[in-house]
Amino acid sequence: MTERRVRVRFAPSPTGALHIGGVRTALYNYLFARQHGGDMIFRIEDTDSNRFVPGAEEYILESFKWLGIPFDEGVSFGGDHGPYRQSERREIYKKYVKVLLDAGKAYIAFDTPEELDAKRAEIANFQYDASTRMQMRNSLTLSKEEVDALIAEGKQYVVRFKIEPNEDVHVNDLIRGEVIINSSILDDKVLYKSADELPTYHLANIVDDHLMEVSHVIRGEEWLPSAPLHVLLYRAFGWEDTMPAFAHLPLLLKPEGNGKLSKRDGDRLGFPVFPLEWHDPKTGEVSSGYRESGYLPEAVINFLALLGWNPGNDQELMSMEELIKLFDLSHCSKSGAKFDFKKGIWFNHEYILLKPDEEIAELFVPVLKEHGVEAPFEKVVTVVGMMKNRVSFVRELWEASSFFFVAPTEYDEKTVKKRWKEDSAQCMTELMEVLAGIEDFGIENQEKIVMDWIAEKGYHTGNIMNAFRLTLVGEGKGPHMFDISWVLGKEETLARMKRAIEVLS
Ligand code: GLU
Repeated sequence: MTERRVRVRFAPSPTGALHIGGVRTALYNYLFARQHGGDMIFRIEDTDSNRFVPGAEEYILESFKWLGIPFDEGVSFGGDHGPYRQSERREIYKKYVKVLLDAGKAYIAFDTPEELDAKRAEIANFQYDASTRMQMRNSLTLSKEEVDALIAEGKQYVVRFKIEPNEDVHVNDLIRGEVIINSSILDDKVLYKSADELPTYHLANIVDDHLMEVSHVIRGEEWLPSAPLHVLLYRAFGWEDTMPAFAHLPLLLKPEGNGKLSKRDGDRLGFPVFPLEWHDPKTGEVSSGYRESGYLPEAVINFLALLGWNPGNDQELMSMEELIKLFDLSHCSKSGAKFDFKKGIWFNHEYILLKPDEEIAELFVPVLKEHGVEAPFEKVVTVVGMMKNRVSFVRELWEASSFFFVAPTEYDEKTVKKRWKEDSAQCMTELMEVLAGIEDFGIENQEKIVMDWIAEKGYHTGNIMNAFRLTLVGEGKGPHMFDISWVLGKEETLARMKRAIEVLS
């Protein structure tokens, strides 16, 4: 038998912002597809019109663009298995509903919500299944004429899947191994609703995976309970031979405590659960996103890749290319992955270090602008190179390095008390003269000349350097002193010293 072409899909329902768990699902699908030279499909599962949220589809697409996850096929990408929006596939589903009805594997049910409620009140733990279906109003209990008459009258109905009881259903999961459940615990799921002429998720999902030739269904653990039903549907259609392989990914768990990661955890602990900022069109609520919070997309990808998978050793930093090489579904964990958002911050720091200074400088320029600073790009690059190891986010570079761009207007009181001695003004005046006489203002040359001068005068190096720092920075922080004076240049260095001496004396 020839190996089947790998085709995977990411199939969100456009019901709001894309949750970070969905991003991880898409990422794993992408890694798997690329590794096998296969295709990745973007399908929109919008058969539940009540839950449709305008803008959600665009939001999801923009998220993947930002993250660097391209699709090969699907909504907005094209391809020859379309349309890829389920709401545009009504006629296709109708055909397959009829196939099941004609084969006696599904039936029409007229029970109204009130009738169903009445049954629930009458029978404890009522389930619409083999044990109860013969007490209900459906095409199994009504005559063909009655059914036709009801439909002709315009009565609303649903189509239910007729599940045979007492049968072990085997789901082979690439992560969990073989999962066996008994069909008796399943109910006769609604596959289609006449009211909106649309199938439910289950039917549309299976029909589309089949028609789109999906080879692997990689999705969140929350879909595992649906898998036995899906297996039965494949069988009912006679599609067992091309049934996709399943892989149900571990849940993302709260950073602390038990349970599933929720948006509230993010709000409480201060981290985003969405890739991009999301403006809820209904409530007007704005939720933070990784992009707007200053994360680099590469860092988010690397962080998410390791939530539920590892390469089998303790390597942590991996580019998309490396992830594609190393990713392995069988190395995914069965148990949930704690959403350690602090690790995400660490990754961001690491990626700021990994990226060329020029690239980080590009991102820092708008931050400088916000603070009214326009500086030569080369200077920004130099400062970034000196300071980026101190920050986790590009915007933190402002706090760490603003003194390179703006002269101090006041001097930190505590530092002054501690570092500005009786003779500091005198020493700084002398140092100004020394610096003014230096031709080559390079870091090493400055350092050598100043150190020689300190030695010759018998001054205390610490005292001189601390006072010097105070004059240039306005407080006790910053990198190596001569790095600062070199970046500022001779003129600016002397001007800042002069002003400090005046103010502090
Ligand atoms: N539409 C489902 C979702 O929103 C797809 C689940 C699946 O991948 O089968 O996640």
